[in-house]
Amino acid sequence: MPTHSRVLILGSGPAGYTAAIYAARASLEPVMVAGPEPGGQLTTTTEVENYPGFPKGITGPDMMEEFRQQAERFGTQVHYDMGVRVDLSRRPFVVEGEADTYHGDALIIATGASAKWLGLPNEQRLRMSGGGVTACATCDGAFYRNQDVAVIGGGDTAMEEATFLTRMCRSVHLIHRRDTFRASKIMQTRAIENPKITVHYNKEVADVLGGDRVTGLALRDTVTGAPSELAVTGLFLAIGHQPNSQLFTGVLDMDETGYLKVRPGSTATNVPGVFACGDVADKVYRQAVSAAGTGCMAAIDAERWLAEHL
Ligand code: NAP
Repeated sequence: MPTHSRVLILGSGPAGYTAAIYAARASLEPVMVAGPEPGGQLTTTTEVENYPGFPKGITGPDMMEEFRQQAERFGTQVHYDMGVRVDLSRRPFVVEGEADTYHGDALIIATGASAKWLGLPNEQRLRMSGGGVTACATCDGAFYRNQDVAVIGGGDTAMEEATFLTRMCRSVHLIHRRDTFRASKIMQTRAIENPKITVHYNKEVADVLGGDRVTGLALRDTVTGAPSELAVTGLFLAIGHQPNSQLFTGVLDMDETGYLKVRPGSTATNVPGVFACGDVADKVYRQAVSAAGTGCMAAIDAERWLAEHL
């Protein structure tokens, strides 16, 4: 027998858990299906200092554990299932997992986004160990006060992150693989004219140096192939994010980069009864607190939709 629920939630980051807390407290007995990264992107960060209500900070994994307990306290059932397939063509909506099949009268999608990484072994090692590799300046910049750091990328995010980091870091090295940025002119100018930012064009990262912590980067010139080294204690990747929306290709409206489209001021997708919240539908803010906010919206939208339609 499939597991049936009034509200089925896909994804277990701040958006999914907040939707679960609200849906559970509205007596909708939600079922959550947590995917391959239970807890979402926050479980791969270290300290979270910008989430209101935690004046002393909290680690990302601890915060997600608190979210889970709060959701379960009000009756959310959390299931763990790796690969799922969805069928939104009939109601209840069907989510077929490896462990079980789940039916939901309404569906809340909170599958998040994943930062893109270079894929270098030392980058991943130092990322996982909290050794100075991250993809979020807003989250982690404050840990690099008065230090020299590098930002990789040539888009708006790289310009924004580099400029943001100049507020607390001693120097910021902006490293791009080509000789022109794809970022908007205004954001490029702001970064290039910032005296704390040094731009390194035509450079790619060949390796991340350091034992327990980042001590520098081995660079390679993308035109001449010439190697060089740069001493930094923090590495910020800003080479884009991938929304986890592949499951809905061809069914839900998305923009050209895969972010789900919702009706402005709501979390409604183009399929009635299906709502999207958090980073899978947000390429602008991408913060835990904004994801939680839209998770709350999705639960309220789902509750109202159920009251009207079922
Ligand atoms: P993006 O525009 O896709 O830029 C990614 C950058 O990373 C590109 O410069 C790309 O280089 C580089 N890159 C990609 N893979 C790489 C690799 N393996 N090694 C080295 N470099 C790599 O991504 P984004 O900057 O995150 O922006 C995403 C969207 O959000 C854009 O539409 C952007 O305008 C928007 N955004 C807007 C704002 C704002 O308006 N305030 C702020 C942030 C983002 P190439 O250029 O060589 O491809």
